[in-house]
Amino acid sequence: MSAAALDVARNPALLKLDLYCKGIRLSETTVPEEDGGRKVLRTRAGLGSGLELVLPGGLWTNVPVTERFARDSPYELARRPDGTYWIERAGERLAPVQLAPRPAWYDRPTQSGKPMTRVGTLQGTYLGVYPAKVCEYWTEDTKVNCKFCSVGLNLGVDDADLKSVDEVLEVARAARRESGITYVDFNTGHYRGDTYLDILEPYVRRIKSELGLLVGVQTPPHHDLRRYDALRAMGVNRVSFCFEIWDREIFKDVCPGKHREYGQDRYLEAIRYCAALGRRGPWSEPWVTNGEIIAGLEPPASSIAAIEWITSVGAIPTVCVFRPLQGTDYARMPPPRTEDVVPVFRALYEACMSHGLPIGCAPNVHVSLVMLPEEARGLSSRRFPVRELKRQALKRVVALALTRRFKAIEARA
Ligand code: SF4
Repeated sequence: MSAAALDVARNPALLKLDLYCKGIRLSETTVPEEDGGRKVLRTRAGLGSGLELVLPGGLWTNVPVTERFARDSPYELARRPDGTYWIERAGERLAPVQLAPRPAWYDRPTQSGKPMTRVGTLQGTYLGVYPAKVCEYWTEDTKVNCKFCSVGLNLGVDDADLKSVDEVLEVARAARRESGITYVDFNTGHYRGDTYLDILEPYVRRIKSELGLLVGVQTPPHHDLRRYDALRAMGVNRVSFCFEIWDREIFKDVCPGKHREYGQDRYLEAIRYCAALGRRGPWSEPWVTNGEIIAGLEPPASSIAAIEWITSVGAIPTVCVFRPLQGTDYARMPPPRTEDVVPVFRALYEACMSHGLPIGCAPNVHVSLVMLPEEARGLSSRRFPVRELKRQALKRVVALALTRRFKAIEARA
C-alpha cells in the first residue's frame, strides 16, 4: 500500500478501523450532546456503544469512549473555537469530523407515551429496532449468553422492553419524514420455540405496505428454512445470521447458547439457503444475505476463512470489530490490534468484489457499527474496474426504484 494509505490522516478507512480498536477521549470541554450530537448509548444489539461521528469521505462510525481501553487512546475529540470538531493526536489535528446529528424526533413521545428513542434509534443513517424482550440466553438459571454481548445488561435502560407494531410504525414514519431513512433493521435474540420470525413479521408487513422502506431482519436461524422463502416473498431485503466465530472450538466457548441451540452448522446452512433465494423474485425488492462475524476473538486467518466461505456461497460478510464492553464477560479483554484486523477487512473487500457481490447498493445506508465491505476498499491496493462499474450501475437502479416507490407512497398518503 502507498504511504498515503498507511496514514490515518489521509486514509479514512484506516482511521475508522483504528478508532474501533483504540477508541477516543473527549476533552473536558467537549460535550457532543450539547452541540446537536447523539447521546452515547451503552449498547445496541450487543456490540455498539460509543459516539456516532462522520469521518472524512462520509464514513459513519461509532467510536468507543466509555470502555476502559479508550482512556489510553492516542486520539482526542476536540471542539475548536469556531465550532468545528477535529480528531487530534498529541495535539496535532488529524481529521475534521462531524457529529452524527441527533434527530428532533428522538425527544418526542409516541402516542402511547414512550420516548421515541426507546422504540428505535438511528445507527448511522438507518433505524435499528430491537422490538421484543431480552434474549433468553440471558434469563436462564445458568446464563449462556454470548460472552461479548451486553444486550441483557442494557435493555430497559436505553431501550423499552416491548414495542408495539403501532409504536414502531410511528417512529419509522418520523424517521423517514425527518431523517430520510431508507432502511429499517430488526434484531432479536433467541426465544424458545423459534418465535422470532412470528414476532417480526407483523412489523415487516406494515412497514413494507405503509412506508415502502427496505427492511432487514437479524435473528437466529429458524429451524424451518422455508420461513425465509416467505420473508423473501413478503419483501424483506436482508437477512443476517450472526455466527460470530469461524473456529469451532472458539465458537463453542464464546457463544455457548448458540452452540447448544443451533450449532454453527445450522447458521451456515441458513446462510447458504438464503443466499440462493436471491435468484427468486420479487424483482422489485433487492435481497442480500449476511453472515456476521467478529474480528478480534479468533486469529485473523480464521476470520478470513469465514469471509471466504460466506462469499463463496453468494452471501456478504458483516465483520464487527470486537469491543470489550463494560459489564460483559469480556470487559477485561483487550481490543484487537489494528494491524491484526487490517488484513481481515482487506480480504472482506477483495472477496466481495472477486465474487461480484452487490455491496453498498442500498441508497443512504451508512453504517456506524461496522466497516462495510466497500469502505474497506481503502485498505486494499487491488482494483476491480469492471465490477466497480457494474456495482455503481446497480446502485443507481436501486436508488431510482426506491425514489419512485417513495413518491408513489407520498402521493397516496
Ligand atoms: S444471541 Fe448472543 S449476541 Fe445475540 S442477543 Fe443473545 S446473547 Fe447477545
